[in-house]
Amino acid sequence: MEKNKGTILFFPFMAQGHIIPFLTLAFKLEQKNYNIIFVNTPLNIKKLKSSLPLYSSISLLEIPFNSSQHGLPPNIENTDSLPYKLTLHFSTISSCLEPSFRNLVSNLIEKPLCIISDFFFGWSANIAHDFGIFHVIFSGASGFGLACFYSMWLNLPHKKTRNIVFTMPDFQEAGNLEVSQLSPSLLAADSNDPYTNFNWKNLHNWMNSDGIIFNTVEELDKLGLAYFRRKLKLPVWAIGPIPWPVSGKSRAGKETREETEKCIKFLDEKEPKSVLYISFGSQSTISASQMMELAKALDNASEVNFIWVVRPPLGFDINMEFRAEEWLPERFVQRVFDDQNRGLIVPKWAPQVEILAHKSVGAFLTHCGWNSVLESLGNGVPLLGWPIAAEQFYNSKLLEQDVGVCVEVARGNNSQVKHENILEKIELVMGENDKGKEIRKKACEVKEMIGDAIINNEDFKGSSIKAMEDFLNAALSMKKMPNG
Ligand code: UDP
Repeated sequence: MEKNKGTILFFPFMAQGHIIPFLTLAFKLEQKNYNIIFVNTPLNIKKLKSSLPLYSSISLLEIPFNSSQHGLPPNIENTDSLPYKLTLHFSTISSCLEPSFRNLVSNLIEKPLCIISDFFFGWSANIAHDFGIFHVIFSGASGFGLACFYSMWLNLPHKKTRNIVFTMPDFQEAGNLEVSQLSPSLLAADSNDPYTNFNWKNLHNWMNSDGIIFNTVEELDKLGLAYFRRKLKLPVWAIGPIPWPVSGKSRAGKETREETEKCIKFLDEKEPKSVLYISFGSQSTISASQMMELAKALDNASEVNFIWVVRPPLGFDINMEFRAEEWLPERFVQRVFDDQNRGLIVPKWAPQVEILAHKSVGAFLTHCGWNSVLESLGNGVPLLGWPIAAEQFYNSKLLEQDVGVCVEVARGNNSQVKHENILEKIELVMGENDKGKEIRKKACEVKEMIGDAIINNEDFKGSSIKAMEDFLNAALSMKKMPNG
C-alpha cells in the first residue's frame, strides 16, 4: 500500500447538492491515499457518520452552528429540511462559520496539504493562506451556469436595460438571456440587499483562492470554464464526473433499501427507455397548480411510464408527509400505480443514481441541477428541463441550445404551465419523431464524451483525469515550497 500522500480538508455548504459531490471527490482522493478530513455542522456530520462505508477512514469534524441564533428554525442545518423561503438567507448567514473554521484549522494537529471549500465559502481562502495551506474552491455547479450567474451578479445587466432579452457585458459568448431566466433574487438585487452583498463579497473572495475545480467535463462545458480562466486568472480544473464508488450504499443516508428495491422492481418490469424519471433535486419544488398540471400531463401520457419524486409544493411545510389528496388530481396515485401499473410516486427522496442507470429510463424531467444533469447524461438519458432557481436556467439553455440534449418544459415555480404543453414536450423527447431521435442520439454521444473524459489507462488519459493530476500536482508543489 502506497504511503499517505498528505491530508486534504473538505468543507462543503450544508446542502445535499453540495455535500454529495464533495463526498464523492473525498472518496476518490481517499482511494488515491490522501488522508481526508470532512468538515460540516453537527447534524450533517451525524447523518454522514451513519452513512459512511465501514472501509472508509474519512475523519468527520464538526464545526459549531446553532440555527436559531441566525433567524432559522431550531435544528435546521441543511437545505433539504429548510423552509423554501429561507434558502437565500441560509446561504447569506453561512459566513458566520468563518471564526469557527479558523479556529478548527488552527487546532489541527497536522497541517493539511490542501483545503477544498465550497463556492459559497470564498472567505476560507484567506484562512487557508494564513496557515500556509493551498486552497481551492470546488464547484458542483457547471462552468457555464456559474459563469452566467457570476457575471450577472457582478454586472446586473438586466437592471441597465428595459429589454426582456439581454446579454452579459463580460460574457457575450453566452448569447441572449431572457428576464424569465432570472431567479427572484436576481430580479430583486440591488446594492443594499443582503444576498447581493453576500454574492459580491463572496465572488471577489474567489480571487484569493489558488484555483477552482469543477465537477464538469472540459469538452461539454468549454465556454464557462474559459470565462473563469479569463476573469479570475486562476487555474481552472474540470475533473468530473466523479463516479460514486460505493455500490449499494446510500450517498446521502436518506433513501432506504426498501425504497430502492421498490423503484428497481418497478423499472425491471418496464420496457427499455419507456420510463420518465421526474425530480426537482434536493431543495426545490414547484407550485401547487404546476404540480396539478404536471400530474394531468402524466395522466394523459398513457404510453409513458414514470417515477416521480414528489416534494411538498410551494406554500406547504417542506417536512410534511405526502398528501396525494391535496396535491394531485383525485385518485391519481391509485389510477397510475394500482390500476395501470405505469406510474410510481416516491415521496421526497429517491435513489436517483440507481434509477438513472437503469435501462428502462428513457428521459429525465429535471430542474437542471448540475449533479442531476451529469448523472443523467453519464447514462445517455436525455433531459426535459424545468429550471427553478439560481444557475439552473443557464444549464437548461446550454443543454438545449448548445449541446442539443434537452427540451425546456417550463421555467421557475411561479409561472403558469399547461398540461397540454408539458405532454407535448414529453412526447417530443420520448416519442417516435425526428427531433426526439436526434436528442436521444445526441445524449448517447454526450455519454461517450463523458466516458472518454474519465478514461485512465496506459495509452490514454481523459481530460478530467489529466486535470485531477494537474490539480494535485499544484497542491503538492506548494507543499514543497520553503514557506509552504
Ligand atoms: N438526489 C437524490 N434523490 C432525490 C433528489 C436528489 O439522490 O430524490 C441527489 C441527486 O442524485 C443529486 C443531488 O441529490 O446528486 C442533487 O443535486 P443537484 O445538483 O442535481 O440539485 P440541487 O439539489 O443541488 O438543487
